[in-house]
Amino acid sequence: MSPWPTQRHLAPGRLVLATHNAGKVREIAALLVPYGMDVVAAGDLGLAEPAETEDSFAGNALIKAHSAARGSGLVALADDSGLCVDALDGAPGVYTADWAATPAGRDWTLAMTKVEDLLVAQGPGVSRAASFVCTLALAWPNGESAVFEGRCAGSLVWPPRGKRGFGYDPVFVADGMTETFAEIDPAAKHAISHRAAAFAKLVAACLGE
Ligand code: IMP
Repeated sequence: MSPWPTQRHLAPGRLVLATHNAGKVREIAALLVPYGMDVVAAGDLGLAEPAETEDSFAGNALIKAHSAARGSGLVALADDSGLCVDALDGAPGVYTADWAATPAGRDWTLAMTKVEDLLVAQGPGVSRAASFVCTLALAWPNGESAVFEGRCAGSLVWPPRGKRGFGYDPVFVADGMTETFAEIDPAAKHAISHRAAAFAKLVAACLGE
């Protein structure tokens, strides 16, 4: 009989985070620790980063989660996320990290500037509405999986503000707030973020009573 129950309950124990992004590791580990999960990052286990070849958040999250579960023999949790800008038809979307790519590594100022330049090119009345989207995929070593999506609506500001957070946080102000995700306390971000929304669904499905 399989040691992993088919109802996909997550028992306290070791779980591999299928991401090499330090910001995501920090935020997801903080969300999981209260549930008795002993979180280890894929990079710390020497697991390679698979190519993200799908054109959806869920597709890429599943690639990462299945790859880490197979490689580690542990339950794996992957996060595929990004910024979707209304006036740019949802771009950069699944390509959010790619917009930061340079030969010398990722440059988030460059990525935020690209988004801003495209908005400015549309004229002064352009909508600055945007959402962060997060898809969490859990994969078990026996091939089972589950997917949860969260969204956080807000708007984009310029210039970037704040030193906390990661990625596009310095230009994103969630609806109902005045400070960017890079200015507010990390706990305040955790309370309302796209990642927290996806995580709440995961908790209800896999960590509940
Ligand atoms: P991927 O999921 O590894 O393809 O990368 C998604 C990218 O979206 C990250 O590298 C970040 O730049 C951006 N992103 C995702 N979540 C957040 C967030 O909470 N704050 C800021 N940027 C984010």
